[in-house]
Amino acid sequence: MDSGTRSFGLSDPNARFEQLSLPDCVNLDPSGRCRLLERAVCSGEGCSFSCSERDRSASLAAWKKRMRALDPATQNQLSARYYCGAKPWLESDNKED
Ligand code: SF4
Repeated sequence: MDSGTRSFGLSDPNARFEQLSLPDCVNLDPSGRCRLLERAVCSGEGCSFSCSERDRSASLAAWKKRMRALDPATQNQLSARYYCGAKPWLESDNKED
């Protein structure tokens, strides 16, 4: 399992069960590999980088709240320096907007 070459064939039922035991993490790709860390195999439960969709949404909302609380001059500076003039923290979280 730690060979770094584990892959999950769709036709292999045992591999599917193995993938079900992996954490609910946004960095996990459908083949059981980690997109975030430079490793081919997910570390599984206990990984300190594990991040669920709920965790990611909460983190993004907290970041937007902190950015909106900055004074306008600082927001403009950060926008120009890191976001090519955009202010993604002012964008709505609602995907239907
Ligand atoms: S739990 Fe850790 S190793 Fe597994 S996909 Fe998420 S970040 Fe990568």
